[in-house]
Amino acid sequence: MNASHPGWAPPRSETRSPHMVSPFMAQGTATLPAEPRAGWLGEAAAAVTAVSPLAVTPRPLVHRSARTRPVYGVCVHTTGSGPAITGRKTGKEPITVALDYYFGPEGLGPHYVIGYDGTIYAVCDEGRVAWHAGWQPIGGKARWASWTAPAWWSSVWRPWNAATPADLLPPGASDPNQVYIGVELLADQTGWGFTEEQYDSLARLVLDVAWRHGITIPAAPSPRLLGHEDTNPIGRETKGVGGWDPGAHRTDPKFSWARLWSRMQALHGGSGGQAGPPAGGGAISSFEALLRSLFGAAGTLGSVLGVTEAAAAFAGGERNSDRLTDLIFHARHPERGGRPIARGETQCANEWLWIRDNVVRPALGRAAASAS
Ligand SMILES: [Zn+2]
Repeated sequence: MNASHPGWAPPRSETRSPHMVSPFMAQGTATLPAEPRAGWLGEAAAAVTAVSPLAVTPRPLVHRSARTRPVYGVCVHTTGSGPAITGRKTGKEPITVALDYYFGPEGLGPHYVIGYDGTIYAVCDEGRVAWHAGWQPIGGKARWASWTAPAWWSSVWRPWNAATPADLLPPGASDPNQVYIGVELLADQTGWGFTEEQYDSLARLVLDVAWRHGITIPAAPSPRLLGHEDTNPIGRETKGVGGWDPGAHRTDPKFSWARLWSRMQALHGGSGGQAGPPAGGGAISSFEALLRSLFGAAGTLGSVLGVTEAAAAFAGGERNSDRLTDLIFHARHPERGGRPIARGETQCANEWLWIRDNVVRPALGRAAASAS
């Protein structure tokens, strides 16, 4: 291989705009609350950068206070209709409008945004506190002491022995932002309309987060995987209808936890029961699941051809990243008949490098980490 090849990266359509437009202005009550511009946790020692390997990082990550509590779960959001409506008015891609906002000076935003095509965009390091579901604007944790749950909320959470959102958090946590990884789903002009690709990427991302942070997710929803409407049914409720962010608990559901859960189960191997990190010991299926999961981030590469062959080689003891990459690359390109990549075949070389660096090496690293 020619080591001078630049790394392959998925093509990106968004361009940076000098003009920040809030994507949230268009949905009536669907405005994000004002949250503090300075972290209230204090700046702890710099955390190690933690970004899902499934995500692309289109811009420098926003800088936030270091998270001081372990990640407890994932909080799912809709961006609301704003990005799609503003995009139509300005001719910008809705994802660009959303990213302009999340990377903008307001400072409000999640850890990840998932575009219509399933691309996962990293906004904030998981080791830092993103401002996506905070209680500070409604009065903090104490607010729940004088709150009575509406039926749509308590029907979901009473079985979990939760009377208020404060009961969903782990002991000691005082704000959802301290413990949840925030994921925004880019919505269409209705404020919802999530695509199959978004469900698929969300499922992969949730499993990836769970795995890397050692979380077991017992159900969807559950305190480990829920929506903004679950953690803030004051700010995310449409009275008489239910929640709107992302809109799972309402008379006209706009988001389906069952659909996400079945996708997670399928990705996890269809074992039934609990989703979560692939079990230790199942090295073959785990490595194959890893490869598939990592390929899932590519989107543009689409195919997962070669994953089965590489997993079989791994099971046979192969740990050389170049040889495993060769197996995947040549399975994807049967027309080559195994012919090595020649000087000048830049596109093939870049694809090979991308597979090695973004799929095979991370998979080997994680397999080694989970085996130790
Ligand atoms: Zn939200």
